Order: sequence, then structure tokens, then C-alpha cells
Amino acid sequence: MLPGLEDLYQELILDHYRGPRNRGALVSANRRAEGHNPLCGDRVTLQLIVEDDTIRDLRFEGAGCAISTASASIMTEVLKGRTVSDALQLFTQFHRMATTGEPPAGQAPMGKLSAFSGISRYPARVKCATLAWHTLDAALRGQTTPVSTE
Ligand code: ZN
Repeated sequence: MLPGLEDLYQELILDHYRGPRNRGALVSANRRAEGHNPLCGDRVTLQLIVEDDTIRDLRFEGAGCAISTASASIMTEVLKGRTVSDALQLFTQFHRMATTGEPPAGQAPMGKLSAFSGISRYPARVKCATLAWHTLDAALRGQTTPVSTE
């Protein structure tokens, strides 16, 4: 199903695909964005509560493949309680890792996000893995038009 990904990572991705964390609507969200990956058909809507420059809570809705769903699920888990600047920095690191396969040099370990380090070998799937993050970026920057990975 996900050739090339190490077993451990494959397990983590499937776990989050089958039982996504933080899925559903977020009442009283004050940040929101939608993302679409036409290449695969993945859709994600992200809602966040940002207070005092900190992501207090975030949830996602949408439908997509295993990679996009697991990526959104793991992202929401990792970002809860982080500052906005932390989140944007993680986006940069995650994007670099997903597109080049290189772990971010001199940075803190990526933890669960490392599950996607092998995705760079599958360019078509990179957009699945980064969709939620592009959507996050749009939500935090207040972009109102839907995000497309195309
Ligand atoms: Zn996909």
C-alpha cells in the first residue's frame, strides 16, 4: 500500500488513518481554511482556536487518502498548544523533509512527523502529505480563498 515506508511508520500512518485524532467541527474556532489536492482528490477543512499567539485547539474535517488523513491527524496532535511561529516553522521543516527526504539540520527531532520522511520518493504523494500543512499555513495567515496544491 505504501511501498518504501518503513514498517513502523506505515503502522503509525495506518493507525491515524483508521482512527483520526481531532476530527470534526470546532465550535468557536477563530481561524479556518480549506484545502484541496486535485491530484488525489483529498479535501481538508481546518478549524483552529488561536489565542495569545498560541494554538489552543484545532480540528479537521474532510475526506482523503490514507496519507492525507494521517498527515492531518498527526499534525493536529503535534500542533495543539504550540505558538503560531512554532507551527509555521514546523511547516517549513515538514515541507522540506517531505520534498527532499532530508531531516531538518540542526533542528529538534520531528517526532511523529518523521513518519513522512520517506514520502519524497513518491512525488505524487508529497501533496497528500503536505495538504493539511498548506491549509494550516493559510488559516494562520488569514487567507480566505481555498488552498489548492495545484
Ligand atoms: Zn491523497
